[in-house]
Amino acid sequence: MKLKFCGAAGTTTGSQHLLEINGKRILLDCGLYQGSRKHAYEINCCFPHFDPKSIDAVILSHAHIDHSGNLPNLTKKGFTGNIFATHATRDLCQVMLADCARIQESDIDWLNKHRKKEGLEPVSPLYDEQDAEMCLRQFVTVSYNRPIPVVDGVAVTFLDAGHILGSAQVLLEIQDQADGKKKRFLFSGDVGRGSNEVLRDPVVVENVDFLLMESTYGGREHEAPPGYGDHFGEIIRQAVKRGGKILIPAFAVERTQQILYMLHELFERGEIPEIPVYVDSPLAVSATEIYRLHPDAFNQEVYESLFDKQNPFGFENLTLVRSVNGSKALNDLDGVALIISASGMCEAGRILHHLKNNIGDPKTTVIFVGYCADNTLGRRIRDGEKTCPS
Ligand SMILES: [Zn+2]
Repeated sequence: MKLKFCGAAGTTTGSQHLLEINGKRILLDCGLYQGSRKHAYEINCCFPHFDPKSIDAVILSHAHIDHSGNLPNLTKKGFTGNIFATHATRDLCQVMLADCARIQESDIDWLNKHRKKEGLEPVSPLYDEQDAEMCLRQFVTVSYNRPIPVVDGVAVTFLDAGHILGSAQVLLEIQDQADGKKKRFLFSGDVGRGSNEVLRDPVVVENVDFLLMESTYGGREHEAPPGYGDHFGEIIRQAVKRGGKILIPAFAVERTQQILYMLHELFERGEIPEIPVYVDSPLAVSATEIYRLHPDAFNQEVYESLFDKQNPFGFENLTLVRSVNGSKALNDLDGVALIISASGMCEAGRILHHLKNNIGDPKTTVIFVGYCADNTLGRRIRDGEKTCPS
């Protein structure tokens, strides 16, 4: 058995690990490396560690782009095998890979302008929306806790990881033909910290011989402790008193749905006034619809509310906004309104125009609910910078 780290080792993003066993090659995740456009393109375009045609199967831990985002490029470059994933991961990949393809296409214009200045030939996007759609045809979806054969002598079982909808720890049960021994190999994928508002807790897997584990936040305190809904409610009440817009920059997948669930609970309990709420991000709207289709991933509380004929991610005063015109119309709203929009770090997306239109108004409240990397606009606002240099 041989394992090669082809990304996300010594760095974050670009998760790709190649496992060779019984003469077969299994790729664990096929993520995009996310860094500066030029550097990222060079790393992502060509799979320097292996030939895509030589891979027998892919196992995908979850739909985040740093784990799934290079799959359309892998299939475009000749991988023809199965991509094993949970049902929810496949559904999220359908919207997230298409969204990623659109970003690739706009990034390439920027990259080619710079290549032209350096006298270099233009390059094509890593993949387009059609490539993203084609790659979905190779998915084989599996429920949690159902072992399924992947290649000779290897079965995979997906176990709860509690990270995003559909996320899984990947347990490989291997009959190693080299030494005749049985081995249990666990690839953790990204692991949640438990007590998630929506998802079940990660499973503790026993009797593992080999553990391949993510450790991105291993050395850091998390910003918000579990159960911060009460604190969130207090902030909303203060913002409502101020009487202006409430803007929440949030990642389209997972964080947006967690906020919707918390708002649903706060409205239900009458702890915050019935203010209009808008989700203004096409990807977040699609992801929210997908969440409702996968009760198997939810913790007991959310699961039960689904069967009480409630939508835990919806409420009367919620409007989901897909169209550009619908988004622009939010500029003309008077009075209190809460707008959840991507991106979470305020680097792109519709949140930018909401910030531009409202941040100068002292009645406006901006609530950050997630991590903002250094040098991002979100971090600069949080750090109290008064002006934007660009
Ligand atoms: Zn992740």
